[in-house]
Formats: sequence, structure tokens, C-alpha cells
Amino acid sequence: MLAARTLCGHFKDIIIIEKDKYPSQAGPRNGTPQSNHIHVLLIKGKEILLRLFPDLERNLVAKGAHIVNLTNDVDYYVGTGYSIKFESNLTTIACTRQLLEHEIRNEILEFPNVNVRENTWATGLVVAKDEKTKRSICKGVTLISTNTNSEETIVGDLVVDTSGRESKTSEWLYRLGRAGARARRCLLQFAVGATRGRVDRAAHRVRPARLDDSGSARARLAGARLAQRLSGRQRREVA
Ligand SMILES: Cc1cc2nc3c(=O)[nH]c(=O)nc-3n(C[C@H](O)[C@H](O)[C@H](O)COP(=O)(O)OP(=O)(O)OC[C@H]3O[C@@H](n4cnc5c(N)ncnc54)[C@H](O)[C@@H]3O)c2cc1C
Repeated sequence: MLAARTLCGHFKDIIIIEKDKYPSQAGPRNGTPQSNHIHVLLIKGKEILLRLFPDLERNLVAKGAHIVNLTNDVDYYVGTGYSIKFESNLTTIACTRQLLEHEIRNEILEFPNVNVRENTWATGLVVAKDEKTKRSICKGVTLISTNTNSEETIVGDLVVDTSGRESKTSEWLYRLGRAGARARRCLLQFAVGATRGRVDRAAHRVRPARLDDSGSARARLAGARLAQRLSGRQRREVA
């Protein structure tokens, strides 16, 4: 969505290919299993989003998002104990990813040159020789629609892979003979848990087993409601 917003002033037609059907309201879907977790926008991310979508903060807050000061409203537990709280202008937006995505989707679909193809899987790249430069360039993508079970190829001047952690681009390029495109892979075990409601202070000290680096953060939402997030990670190069 953000790539589409960034490009929509530069290209005549933008097509977003999405394998899921978007829920009509902010809601979960297969492609984003993290959608119900609380997300806190980092400051630069928030600034960029508000530059792209000036009404976003107001619309999110109207639908239940929270304005959170990152140094004063959030308790961080980082192994050595709780971080110190202090006044700052590091104020941002906390909400679920599904709400954030829903609001951004509403805004982006207002642009007449942006269209979404739902229930459509990108399955590969189309590569052809460029007449001018004689170099092989990516000219499009192959698709399968789960509505009609049919295959299709669409061509475009620019193909942007925004399929997140499920991205197959390096695999597709490798299959097309771009050996150098094979990605270096590393195993990142990342565990995140989230709770809302009453939060037990002792839960902050939970250290997920087998993870090198763990911590937690909690923020007061409204009144006595709290949201807490535990996370930990372990990184290992595998190839
Ligand atoms: C538990 C958890 C908590 C998080 N908390 C935060 C946070 O607090 N703040 C923060 O900034 N980030 C957070 N993140 C990270 C954030 O959710 C991700 O970085 C972000 O969702 C990545 O966005 P994306 O658009 O790149 O990829 P994704 O969100 O993975 O979206 C990829 C899209 O591509 C679609 N897709 C995939 N393959 C295909 C295909 N072949 N054809 C068609 N469509 C396809 C998927 O359905 C999906 O819609 C968190 C992540 C998790 C798991």
C-alpha cells in the first residue's frame, strides 16, 4: 500500500496483487497473522505515514488507536531492569496492524490510478531482453486467481515485491538463472506474545527459553487497561 502511495504520482496505473480477500472492516486475514498484535509506529515511520496520509492519525484515533509517548507511557523491561521514564516529544500511534492496514487501504483506494486484485497469487516473474540496453529486465509477473483458478501474465514498467516474509523473489530469480540473486538466509527465531487487560509485573521477567535477547514493553491504554508485549530473538546464519 505504501509502495503504491509512493509511486502513484509517477505511474499511470498501479495494480496491487494480493492473495487474500481483504476484510470489509479492520479484521484478521491469512497473510498477516500478526494483524491482531498491538503495533507501535516508530517516530520516523509515523512521520512518513502522516506525510503520505495527512488524515491518518485523526482517523486511527477515531477508531480506537492510542497516542503513546514512547519514553513516558511505556514500561520497557530489558534484562537489566525497567528503563527510566522521561519527558520527550517521542509521541506516536499504537494500534493493531489490522486497523492500521484498513485505514491505509481506505486512503490509498481513493487514488483513481490505484487498483487492487484480491484473491490473486503472484507466482513468478516475467523476464525479457530490453531492446535498447540488451539487458534482461523484469517485465511483469505471472498470477493465479483463486476466484477463477486461471493463470495470467501482467506486464508493467516496474514490478515491486512487497510480499513481506513470504517473498519468493530471490527463488524466482535463481530459477531464471540469476545465480547471484540467491539470498543469504539466516534463521531468526523471533517470539512475540501480547496480552491486554491486567498485566502481572512478574510477567515482565519471563525470558523465552533458547532466545539470546529478550525484553518486554507495556503501555497504559485507557484507564486501567494495559497492553503488554514480550519478545525475544535468536539469529543464526544457515547458508
Ligand atoms: C507479532 C508481531 C508484532 C509486530 N509489531 C510491530 C510493531 O509494533 N511495529 C512495527 O512497525 N512492526 C511490527 N511488526 C512487523 C510488521 O508487522 C511487519 O514488518 C509488517 O507487517 C511488514 O509489512 P509488509 O507489508 O512488508 O509485509 P506483510 O505484512 O507480510 O504483507 C505482505 C502481503 O503480501 C501478501 N502476499 C504474500 N505473498 C504473496 C503472493 N505470492 N501473492 C500475492 N500476495 C502475497 C500477503 O498476503 C500480505 O498481504 C510486528 C510483527 C509481528 C509478527
